Amino acid sequence: MASPDVFPNVSFSDVSAAAVAPAADGATAAFGIDAATGGPRLSLVKAGKPEVEPTVQVNLSDAQIFKLGPREWLCVSDESEAKAGVEEKSFSRAINVVLRTEAESKAFYLTFQRWKHRVISGKAGESLGNGSIISSISKFDTKIEASSAKMYFHYYGQLLHQQNMLQDFVRTGTYYAAVMENQSDFEGRVVVDVGAGSGILSLFAAQAGARHVYAVEASEMAEHAQRLISGNPSLGQRITVIKGKVEEVELPEKADILISEPMGTLLVNERMLESYVIARERFLAPDGKMFPTTGRIHMAPFSDEYLYVEMANKALFWQQHNFFGVDLTPLHGSAFQGYFSQPVVDAFDPRLLISPPTYHTLDFTSMKEEELYEIDIPLSFVASVGTRVHGLACWFDVLFNGSTVQRWLTTAPGSPTTHWYQLRCVLSQPLYVMAGQEITGHLHLVAHSAQSYTIYLTMSAKMWGVGAEQGGILQTATGKFELKEPYYRLSQPQSYMMPQDQQQQQQLPSLQPQGSELQMQDGLSPGITIDQVDQDCGLH
Ligand code: SAH
Repeated sequence: MASPDVFPNVSFSDVSAAAVAPAADGATAAFGIDAATGGPRLSLVKAGKPEVEPTVQVNLSDAQIFKLGPREWLCVSDESEAKAGVEEKSFSRAINVVLRTEAESKAFYLTFQRWKHRVISGKAGESLGNGSIISSISKFDTKIEASSAKMYFHYYGQLLHQQNMLQDFVRTGTYYAAVMENQSDFEGRVVVDVGAGSGILSLFAAQAGARHVYAVEASEMAEHAQRLISGNPSLGQRITVIKGKVEEVELPEKADILISEPMGTLLVNERMLESYVIARERFLAPDGKMFPTTGRIHMAPFSDEYLYVEMANKALFWQQHNFFGVDLTPLHGSAFQGYFSQPVVDAFDPRLLISPPTYHTLDFTSMKEEELYEIDIPLSFVASVGTRVHGLACWFDVLFNGSTVQRWLTTAPGSPTTHWYQLRCVLSQPLYVMAGQEITGHLHLVAHSAQSYTIYLTMSAKMWGVGAEQGGILQTATGKFELKEPYYRLSQPQSYMMPQDQQQQQQLPSLQPQGSELQMQDGLSPGITIDQVDQDCGLH
């Protein structure tokens, strides 16, 4: 049997040579380890007399491969030449390789990547122009600050954060169910896992019978994913891990289905939905499917006196007139505003909601990436009780619109808790409403280059008391919140536990993920560890 690392009957030419030689037909391309350097290399051996026509060696360590046609590739590598007594010379070499068939061509690409790095590395947006390589900045780089991206991928490069997501049983179990209940969407299909992390969703897709899965992951986690996938060989042989950003890597074929878990706090935090949409534009075949298919942000006004007082009290520290002889009060106002600019993340009792929720839908299969830069949601509610309104509560759900089963993953209050919890924007001035009164306003989300959003909230209620004859008095409260800097209120003892949650906990004892440390991923607060959560509110 021929070695999978050897490709006979290829045609190649060195297009970087001073005088481009005619293509050598009937040559052999062989991947292997270079005896001298110990690094991976591609040897191209001409037919006939290789001792007369020397073999061309391509150093794969820093090499890149570009698709020129269905059977044609350009391999560009950095080479150096050291001759005794002469200074070492570095140069780039570009070899044009043409395979016999498209199937061989695809295998050549994958083999190239496999040898280049045990983990495949798709190299950042580089394109060919006038025969030379031009570095171009990808869509990701133009809108995201390098320092934010560095922290972000560093965070996801660590196994403990991947473990935290894997241990979110509602999340991982719902993905598993959505894939397994819809095997017909995966069987024999090409799948791209967008932001593969540990590779778990790729392994699910392979279990559901995918023909091939491309697991694209930008962080160092790609190395771990490769190890996990290699360690599950019956599935792993149909999975290729590609290290790089979905905005930048090249794939050898189009996908029938994309699978991804791009949701952050309030659905949109981390701005990864944009990468999911870009992956659709770049990799998905027309009429391809997306898992998840749509997402919805749900919103409702809430009343929570206890939370409001807790937040206002945090700033009390700054009301001291004599703190080691220093008057702190000049900073009280700023501290107060500072606390109220943090959206609160915790699991709350849905009985705190004072109106039925409304929602805003994002259709991942049709929306434009730019539509995620700014999201304006008009609000209109009718208060079901007379109370003080302390702000807006938000959560999200996503739909896996499978051909067989439609499955929702929800993070709603009162539903089994996920690591996303819920999010509340607390107004520094509450509104007073009566039962039946209308509450209107806007939730305006503006994306920024630190992979998150600034939230502008306006809520108004028209009072029909004094001044009713002039059309009523409009009370309006506004708030500006930084989604990247939430207040994780989870180490507080939680008195909110719905009966169905308790039941769920009791029914699934053996399925409860183990581990005492719950790190808030997706909210991206590296360094915040909530040790108390397990005991305090019975999550996980
Ligand atoms: N799919 C895994 C991990 C989800 S977390 C699971 O469900 O468990 C999201 C992952 O996407 C992280 O590992 C992050 O590094 C990766 N990611 C985020 N943006 C990306 C991008 N633009 N390109 C490639 N990977 C990205």
